[in-house]
Amino acid sequence: MSDKRETLGFQTEVRQLLQLMIHSLYSNKEIFLRELISNASDAADKLRFEALANPELQDDDAELGIEIIVDKKRRTLSIIDNGIGMSRDELIDNLGTIAKSGTAEFLQQMTGEKKHDAHLIGQFGVGFYSAFIVADKVTVESRRAGLGADAAVRWESEGQGEFTVEDIERAERGTTVTLHLKKGELEFVEAYRVESLIRKYSDHIGFPVSLTDASDKESETKLVNSATALWTRPRSDVSDDEYKEFYKHLSHDFSDPLTWSHNRVEGKREYTSLLYIPGAAPFDLWNREAPRGLKLYVQRVFIMDDAEQFLPLYLRFVKGVVDSSDLPLNVSRELLQQNPELATMRSALTKRVLDMLKKLASKKDDYQKFWNEFGQVLKEGLVEDHANKDKLAKLLRFSTTHTGSNTQDQSLDDYVGRAADGQEKIYYILAENYATAIASPHLEQLKSRGLEVLLLTDRIDAWLVESLGEYDGKALVDVAREALDLPADGEEKDQGKLDEEHKALLEKIQGVLSERVEAVKVSRRLVDSPACVVAGSQDLNPQVRRMLEASGQKLPESKPILEINVQHPILGRLSAEADEKRFDALSNIVLDHALLAEGSQLDNPAEYVQRMNEFMLQTSGGAENA
Ligand code: ADP
Repeated sequence: MSDKRETLGFQTEVRQLLQLMIHSLYSNKEIFLRELISNASDAADKLRFEALANPELQDDDAELGIEIIVDKKRRTLSIIDNGIGMSRDELIDNLGTIAKSGTAEFLQQMTGEKKHDAHLIGQFGVGFYSAFIVADKVTVESRRAGLGADAAVRWESEGQGEFTVEDIERAERGTTVTLHLKKGELEFVEAYRVESLIRKYSDHIGFPVSLTDASDKESETKLVNSATALWTRPRSDVSDDEYKEFYKHLSHDFSDPLTWSHNRVEGKREYTSLLYIPGAAPFDLWNREAPRGLKLYVQRVFIMDDAEQFLPLYLRFVKGVVDSSDLPLNVSRELLQQNPELATMRSALTKRVLDMLKKLASKKDDYQKFWNEFGQVLKEGLVEDHANKDKLAKLLRFSTTHTGSNTQDQSLDDYVGRAADGQEKIYYILAENYATAIASPHLEQLKSRGLEVLLLTDRIDAWLVESLGEYDGKALVDVAREALDLPADGEEKDQGKLDEEHKALLEKIQGVLSERVEAVKVSRRLVDSPACVVAGSQDLNPQVRRMLEASGQKLPESKPILEINVQHPILGRLSAEADEKRFDALSNIVLDHALLAEGSQLDNPAEYVQRMNEFMLQTSGGAENA
């Protein structure tokens, strides 16, 4: 046997993570035990799964389980499993690198401020490396199932920059993780302390966890947990704390879930699901390649992590377990895709999640937390999932002119409930951000008449309103579009009459701006602003246009319609302007300002600046001196 010993360096990300973790998670240091027991339980799950196809992998009769040994004399705590184990290469890969894409960017967000970082690392998912919070050296000895006793490996590190690997002999399959505890961490060699931690964190693990105190010859190995997988127990038997702990085990998330839903379906199709809504978005929520989905068990045997087939993409934030009695044990991702049961389960599970969210929505603060973290993802559902459109619409939250706050906390029912008698539309504006939306000239008339407007500033909103179309029989209407017919308020003239009255002025401005605008009209939506631009009823909304252009799409040119506020003194001045050059300049400036207010960029900013400069000199009396 070769005992080839190598010293290898950690991947940079691992090095950074180790440092940050020790520093920021110190006040929650005991969670390392949950993480290591979780890994051991996963390893047992994986062995059982691989042994379905290769029974010789489970080459002994021993029950799958986890053993914890505390040793005061040696100052060590060991976690031993007889699960799948790791080969030399697997040890190097699994414990020397982090494979999640986006990790480097994620680590850059760390500030060195404990609370902030602890929160972020929690979202990232703490794991094996948490051992270094309490240990100054960690030794992992492992033998992969199916490999011989002489193919075992020892991995060792002090959690600085390096680790070593060497070949060893090991009689048993599986892994032993030994923590050499730091001087100040001796509470973790106290059997009573470790026992209470196992009870607290790992009672719900589906494998027996036993504890041995090596320094006490009198004491015997003791079974500590109840060793029944949590989701197999009746709901009434499981406490909230147990549900929360199970979530942390499942997700490696460090904070509590917002809510959960545990159900058993019986009858023609039998399965149990336990679904959680996390309290915070994971760092890779927007990475469409990131693993997502539920943990799949068939008849309590673990089959796969991240089974994404059970929920649509827009519910990718949901964590949980589904345990089916009907799917075949040899089901693979491909087979799952083709399974006729799957579509039914998927729509039932989707409905469960939406019902759970509906329930959560009755707790305003909790729902707001959910919405702030995941609202933008849920909005994708309106575009993707027409079958559940009505349910999803009720779950939406918006920022509106009613609250005048940037927080998206108003539902469509709130809006409809406040709508005036006879208001048949739901008004909205699309803008780059809240500040642009709330200050938009397009809102003036609506605001002054007390008509509420939804302020839509998320990228997906344009598609959202298009998919939604209407709510409660009221059409959704873009306030920045031509022909905005507001409910009548008595003394109003129709558009044709208005345009006729101001025909001369409109034509004169149109003459000057013909290259830049489609038409000039008298506006009925302005109060304080001199002008605004609107899109033709067939044209793209300018906000959508900007987004498409930013993503590299070439779009046919289209000119906006300029609407002027004939009551405004600037328009009064314009119509009285006899000097043609000044009329030209002023008309252009009115248009430039309307474009800027709406969030557009000017095609020729230098020309605008020049016009403004000249204009400022004239009005300040500079022109006379020239
Ligand atoms: P995570 O569990 O989130 O993937 P960890 O850092 O905890 O991250 O572990 C990295 C990988 O190391 C695991 O995905 C698993 O493949 C492997 N691993 C860790 N502990 C064990 C163990 N006791 N037995 C077998 N493999 C393990």
